[in-house]
Amino acid sequence: MIDIQIDWHQRAKTLKIDGRAVINGKRMSAADKATFECFSPIDSRKLTDVASCKSADVDLAVVAARAAFNDRRWAGLPPKERKQTMIKFADLIIANREELALLETLDMGKPITASLNVDVSSAANTIRWFGEAIDKVYDEIAPTADHTLAMITREPIGVVGAIVPWNYPIAMAAWKIAPALASGNSVVLKPSEKSPLTALRLGDLALQAGIPAGVLNVLPGFGQEAGSPLALHMDVDCIAFTGSTAVGKKIQIMAGQSNLKRAWCELGGKSPNIVFADCKDVDRAAEASAGSIFYNQGESCNAPSRLLVERSIKDKLVKKILAELKNYQPGDPLDANTTMGAMVDCGQMESVLKYIESGKLEGASLLAGGAQVKAESGGFYISPTVFDNVTNRMKIAAEEIFGPVLSIITFDTVDEAINIANDTEYGLAAAVWTQDISKAHMVAKRLRAGTVHVNSYDEDDITVPFGGYKQSGNGRDKSLHALEKYTELKTTWIRLT
Ligand code: NAD
Repeated sequence: MIDIQIDWHQRAKTLKIDGRAVINGKRMSAADKATFECFSPIDSRKLTDVASCKSADVDLAVVAARAAFNDRRWAGLPPKERKQTMIKFADLIIANREELALLETLDMGKPITASLNVDVSSAANTIRWFGEAIDKVYDEIAPTADHTLAMITREPIGVVGAIVPWNYPIAMAAWKIAPALASGNSVVLKPSEKSPLTALRLGDLALQAGIPAGVLNVLPGFGQEAGSPLALHMDVDCIAFTGSTAVGKKIQIMAGQSNLKRAWCELGGKSPNIVFADCKDVDRAAEASAGSIFYNQGESCNAPSRLLVERSIKDKLVKKILAELKNYQPGDPLDANTTMGAMVDCGQMESVLKYIESGKLEGASLLAGGAQVKAESGGFYISPTVFDNVTNRMKIAAEEIFGPVLSIITFDTVDEAINIANDTEYGLAAAVWTQDISKAHMVAKRLRAGTVHVNSYDEDDITVPFGGYKQSGNGRDKSLHALEKYTELKTTWIRLT
């Protein structure tokens, strides 16, 4: 747990930040020496200059990754040795957790307590979990005739390009690199230009743990300049992408335009949270509904941004949700007591404020929040916002806002709730609150979403897959199923006689 005594502002003053890329085991400037300025959304302070990688750097990193893969310096190790190195990598993340948490908070704006106790811890846990798993995964023998032996084996796919977003920078990076590295691949990781700092430190710590040079390369840069050349590269075997649906579509096109690489996309969401009148614990439903939309400033892909509530308990639930808002007032992200931090940058704040204006214009009732706060800090903060009388056709209900904005929609019947819940282009997550077990199962089955929570929200862990239906994507992170994305399936058919 967090040491409440740490003076994070003081620590921030002496923090040394290296913004150079990690290529073939070395920290390097971009080939053209270009950099971009990295500012903190907390107060707009400049943090550092970061290497602005482009296609020449992508080429260099892919060549290094391919060489490392071909000479089998990592892929050829016994799984138990990769396991030990991954566990050491996880241990090093924990040993450096305060530095990593500080970087994450300064870079992205989330509260330091969340960075330390959730993001950094979960990144270490993900790397440890896949490390520990990899020497326990067996291949198959097919049920063939007596004179043949048919083996079905999984092999690493080769060079994996991982492109990740800014909302959970270290955690999303870990979701990609842990299964990819554990199964023996080489990786070129491109963090978001809005939050590249913890990914770069992961590159150092991987080397320190003993992951050989060239196996994990980290290239900071802009989407079109560094991400596109990676997605278009003829020698990258797979792109593991997490980000917006709009960019995910481009990634699929780039995969098709180049070498038909696997393109796994984990994309946006507009998740419904359905509370029926027979919900047993309305207090818990209110707490989870508010907690899950306002956590991480609402910048969560699976945030339950649409609250569907049965008319007869609506007033009671809404009153309790409004009472929860006191727990999510934006504060100084470097204060250990803060529960809501800054939006990632000015552009994201303005985009959310525009959605709030559109909600008002379309006739939704603003019950709370709706404005920028703490402007004097120089940072980008929005108060937790609740709209009532929303219809599913309004922009605030149809589009992913990616901010602390809750839209409340009222329903009268089970079928109506399911229809509204599924009436979206997304399908990442959903929740059902009821004490009727049959209703819970029946509704969960009919919801078109990759994860359905019952009487909870967002309580899952690394043991279960995470990903979306429909335009929320096509892949799954977490759990042993994630290994499927980073491995080829080979049949070896042996004639014995
Ligand atoms: P984004 O799509 O703008 O960017 C994601 C990454 O793609 C960044 O690294 C960016 O630099 C890169 N990129 C941008 N344009 C590119 C291009 N033309 N070619 C190649 N790469 C490009 O998304 P974001 O704003 O960073 O993140 C927010 C989005 O991520 C939201 O939609 C959120 O729902 C989604 N998300 C999904 C999951 C999930 O698991 N499904 C998890 C977290 C975030």
